[in-house]
Amino acid sequence: MISIDRPSRTADLGDVRVANRAAVLRHVRLHAPCSRADVAARTGLNKATVSSLVGELIEHGLLRETGLTENRVGRPATMLVLDGSRYVGLGLRIGADELVVVAVDVAGERVLTWRRAFAAATAGPDETVAALAALARRAINRVTGTGRTVLGLTVGVPGPVDADGVVPAAPVLGWRGVPLAAALRRALRDPGFPIGVDTDANLAVSAELRHGPYAGTADLVHLTGGPTAGVVSGGRLLRGGRGFAGEIGHLPVLPDGPACGCGRRGCLAALVGVDAVVRRLLPDALQDGPVTDHLPEIERIQALARAGNDPVRTGLTEVGRQLGRAVCVLVDLLDPEVVVLGGHLAALAPWLLPAVRAELADRTLAPPPVVRVEASTLGSEASALGGATAALATVEAGHLPAA
Ligand SMILES: [Zn+2]
Repeated sequence: MISIDRPSRTADLGDVRVANRAAVLRHVRLHAPCSRADVAARTGLNKATVSSLVGELIEHGLLRETGLTENRVGRPATMLVLDGSRYVGLGLRIGADELVVVAVDVAGERVLTWRRAFAAATAGPDETVAALAALARRAINRVTGTGRTVLGLTVGVPGPVDADGVVPAAPVLGWRGVPLAAALRRALRDPGFPIGVDTDANLAVSAELRHGPYAGTADLVHLTGGPTAGVVSGGRLLRGGRGFAGEIGHLPVLPDGPACGCGRRGCLAALVGVDAVVRRLLPDALQDGPVTDHLPEIERIQALARAGNDPVRTGLTEVGRQLGRAVCVLVDLLDPEVVVLGGHLAALAPWLLPAVRAELADRTLAPPPVVRVEASTLGSEASALGGATAALATVEAGHLPAA
């Protein structure tokens, strides 16, 4: 028997109002500029309810009237858009060799994008949190200086994250059991808005779902060549039972392949990860010790590939084939519409994609049309952008800002 703890009628009505607010915001986000009558017609809410909700959302700085009107029979209708002038979400990303911060307003516009070269793996967790907090503080000062309020902050890390914002293991950073959310909250002296932490792949695929050419694709996978794939299935982020879904970096791709950090051989990460690609295509890059800043090396690979350098082109085709094998597994398992390559894979996509697509055409069992594999257009700030968007989730879910 199920015990029923019946919520009060007031709570029920409150929940309905929150859900209706979310429906109005979502409609305006997807169809702006639109009139109150459009919102009512398309959401199924009655006109009086829409009027009341819109009034409240305008008052709280989430919607605004454009001043434009739509010509229709009867009274001209005032058009509505999302109001980006009051609130922003902040997204940060800890990469192996850089920190990134992005601020996005409620209307989905990017307010700022800053990056700072930073070797997190050598610095260690404490110094990384201090550097991250310093970058966040500067961004907060900048956006509050324009009269806006920060509603939340979400950090992307290259590894799984538990529900308390602890990073159990991020080999790319050399981290184990780092309570990142709590440490950052302390470093920012409890800033009065929620601080979240998520796997960067989850944030990157959320960014693709909202921004750029694949926005709105309900079945979408984002691969950065890091340990995790970001997966959106049926329009929702796939997290799995403990939040660790999508860990495909150690998928065995080549039985006798190069040694992987996990102790096995031929894992996907050991073949197509940024370190592996640089080591394979630029053997001289490691002469002066481990590479801590990968961007110049990836740019060198691009230049050599463009110049028609044979070993580099052959190497990239080989990387593309191995990546393609992993993509085949994902496609058979998840049946996505689009697989997006991010990070260094996006930078090298012109030379990787033909081999990835050929491998897919040869191996997948799904009937045509074969899944699209495309390069991300969001750059290495995709997960920070997704973090900023995630930081606005509470408001988008229909809760009014406290400020
Ligand atoms: Zn491995």
